[in-house]
Amino acid sequence: MENLRKSNVLIVDDVASQRNILQHILSPLDITIIQAFSGKNALDKVLNHEFAVILMDIEMPGMKGYEVVNLIHSNQRFKHIPIIMVTSNHNNSEALNKSYEAGAVDFVTKPVNKTILTNKVAQFIAMEEHRRIAEDSTARLNILLNTVSEGILGIDLDGKITFANPKALELLGIDSENFSNKIQDFLELHNQNPTGSLDYRDYNRELIDLLSSNFYNATRIGKTSLKGSGNWQSMTGNTFHADYSFDATRQLNGEIDGAVLTFKDTTQEKETEAKLLHLANFDYLTNISNRAYFYDTLKKSIIRVKRSNTTLAVMCLDIDHFKFINDQYGHDIGDLLLQNISQKLTGILRENDLISRMGGDEFAIILQDIPTKINVAKVAQKILNSVSEPLELNSIKIEVSTSIGIAFYYPDSMNMHDLLKAADTALYEAKSEGRNNFQFFAKQMQDKAEKIQRVQMLLSKAILNNELTVLYQPKISLSQEKMVGCEALIRWFPEEGNQISPDVFIPIAEQNGQIIELGDWVLNKVCQQISYWQTLPYFKGMVTALNVSVRQLGTSEFRVKLVKAINTYGIKPEYVEIEVTETATFDDQNVFISELEKIHALGVKISIDDFGTGHSSLDYLRKMPVDIIKIDSSFIKDIGKDEQDEEIIRTILAISKTMSIQVIAEGVETVEQLIFLEKNQVDNIQGYYFSKPIQAQAISDALNSNKNHYKEQFDCFEKRKAIDVKPLPYCVVVK
Ligand code: C2E
Ligand code: MG
Ligand code: MG
Repeated sequence: MENLRKSNVLIVDDVASQRNILQHILSPLDITIIQAFSGKNALDKVLNHEFAVILMDIEMPGMKGYEVVNLIHSNQRFKHIPIIMVTSNHNNSEALNKSYEAGAVDFVTKPVNKTILTNKVAQFIAMEEHRRIAEDSTARLNILLNTVSEGILGIDLDGKITFANPKALELLGIDSENFSNKIQDFLELHNQNPTGSLDYRDYNRELIDLLSSNFYNATRIGKTSLKGSGNWQSMTGNTFHADYSFDATRQLNGEIDGAVLTFKDTTQEKETEAKLLHLANFDYLTNISNRAYFYDTLKKSIIRVKRSNTTLAVMCLDIDHFKFINDQYGHDIGDLLLQNISQKLTGILRENDLISRMGGDEFAIILQDIPTKINVAKVAQKILNSVSEPLELNSIKIEVSTSIGIAFYYPDSMNMHDLLKAADTALYEAKSEGRNNFQFFAKQMQDKAEKIQRVQMLLSKAILNNELTVLYQPKISLSQEKMVGCEALIRWFPEEGNQISPDVFIPIAEQNGQIIELGDWVLNKVCQQISYWQTLPYFKGMVTALNVSVRQLGTSEFRVKLVKAINTYGIKPEYVEIEVTETATFDDQNVFISELEKIHALGVKISIDDFGTGHSSLDYLRKMPVDIIKIDSSFIKDIGKDEQDEEIIRTILAISKTMSIQVIAEGVETVEQLIFLEKNQVDNIQGYYFSKPIQAQAISDALNSNKNHYKEQFDCFEKRKAIDVKPLPYCVVVK
């Protein structure tokens, strides 16, 4: 370190022996001694070295000692060097006086007393070292003040700016000349003149407050340090965000004599912080808040509701058949759609509501202070309307809809998790109600949802546990008066609990995808059964139908498995029929139709199940390879009761005849229904009138004998036709 270097002492004397004596005396000190043999030589040395002390002989030929002192001290740079005069003559007081006048600080007389000289020199060296240390730290402080990235202002108790470092001037846009007044004027201007394009007063409020009353108010109540941040504006109009601290400065006696204001431009840090915050809380694609932010806000909203007795509702929504749009048009269009819907939702909601993207096509909304269900319903309806407006994305016309589940928060009976679950359950309900609608959560939905969950859980083990079986319901030809086919119907007897109807578990399995596994199982079971039946004597090309869910026909997978099963069990494709239910809810109609065509091309028969209940019955017939129509049991049930339904049956029959499509009536229970259907030339009959679904063994028995199994029913039918009276109870034959 600089401070630890040895001090230099200069000995000036024209007599070498004198110089050496002095050097010898001072040799115990840890110093570097330099000698000069004349005044001129001394000046040379002073110019080239730094001296802590100079010992100067008064009497020298040429330039006198005091003249040398005078010259040295006349230079500002060397004024501080202590010079001790060395004199051999006590009485030469005039020379000594001249030396003092020139700046000498002390003197010693020859012969020099060893102790006195070393003490004096040691003291001056110590003083010099202190001075140097002080000078160094002042220099360092100055460097610090000039280079720090913080602006620093000093202020006295009168509120006058006493100090400003370059950074402070730069940040405030002020040049260094007369800075104090300029800063004061600047603040004064903003304080008085809050006009202009920007509200200066607003921008520089903290600065003004700090440098005026606030600090004094704070010190008055004993607070001598303030920290804060705010938006400031420089004199040149540059705005920046400042973090500042304001601390009182004290005199040695502890009395406050002013303060130092340190401030820093943290605009960039603020921006980075804001960006990070944005990244953590906002969805990159749609620029609305994300799941994390949603949970955070919901937590806070719940606390607020508990405290203030206001209302809170949550909406969960997703886009109907979004996967289809993504698959059909590509992810870019999918992304554009999500952005478009986010914008629409943001436009509909109020400022203090929150809309978040929870992931994929799922959105959630927090509605604050909406008093009644009616108000919430209005918002939901607005969303439905807005989302279903036709769109054009990258020149592709798209129509979508959304389903919405809504739940109100009840502080006494729910936590956040319950609330979200309730909204989600309501969404599920909206989906199963045919989509493009909204539903409020109701308790029974919860029960239903729990039941569904239980069924899903049990179903996942059903195949492994051998809980499934298949029954077969005969299909009877009216013209041949015998069984010409049958329909395979799945049955489930869970290990725990009662039998569960396919009407319950098939829709659940369709929703969650378990239908694929179930369908595979049925396909194999049925094909295996056909391979046995085709060996029986009265098989005669009987066709066995199996129900296939639309979900199974979304890819080529089912067809591949069907071909494999047909080959594995060595059966003819003509013996197999698949029943597909007309539905409006399949995602990709094109794949579905093309799959049916390929399956049909194999020789497998295709029938439309529950015909007449869907939305596009006739459309189906035009677009798809249909062999058979199954008139839905709901129409059959109304025969003799509802003329309109009878008319529908007649129309279906007329159309199918022109298209050469076979017709079968399902759910036929009474002879009266049978008479109507025969009169209108229905080909085949399925229903309890002839037979309930029965075990495979019962079908095997029938295929093993020539017996007319349905004689009783046909006799009753003929009798009823002959007497043409209302059906008698004994004619309702249920096997
Ligand atoms: P579906 O394909 O329309 O089958 C006809 C349903 O009506 C069967 O109910 C059958 O037992 C019932 N049924 C037949 N005749 C009568 C009658 O005269 N009166 C009454 N009241 N009902 C009659 P099931 O077996 O409960 O099946 C219900 C639905 O479950 C089926 O309707 C079908 O859509 C579905 N399903 C059954 N098995 C399977 C399967 O293996 N795969 C698929 N994907 N769906 C299946
Ligand atoms: Mg069916
Ligand atoms: Mg049916």
